[in-house]
Amino acid sequence: MKDNKDKRCMAIVCHAGEFLASSCMNKAKVEFEGNWYCGIHDPVKVAKKLKARQKKWAEEARVASERWRRRTAEELFCQGIPTEYLESNKSESGGRNA
Ligand SMILES: [Zn+2]
Repeated sequence: MKDNKDKRCMAIVCHAGEFLASSCMNKAKVEFEGNWYCGIHDPVKVAKKLKARQKKWAEEARVASERWRRRTAEELFCQGIPTEYLESNKSESGGRNA
């Protein structure tokens, strides 16, 4: 391991509400492809975090679309359209033309 005493994190960070991005400048802990990063911006950690976040987003999107589907079905049901019709209509490719 190289000496990282005077090294600073090279990560570029954007702060909410600020136009310009700036460097992190935290004390560097890890070296990655010649660049130094602090514990927060360790590329391996960042990639892992991003993956976890993407997984969470995908799950949230799935839940949201399921909720939306149910809500739409409920609303149409309240308008007097039976869910059986919605389900059968949904399974037909392209829907039916009146
Ligand atoms: Zn950093």
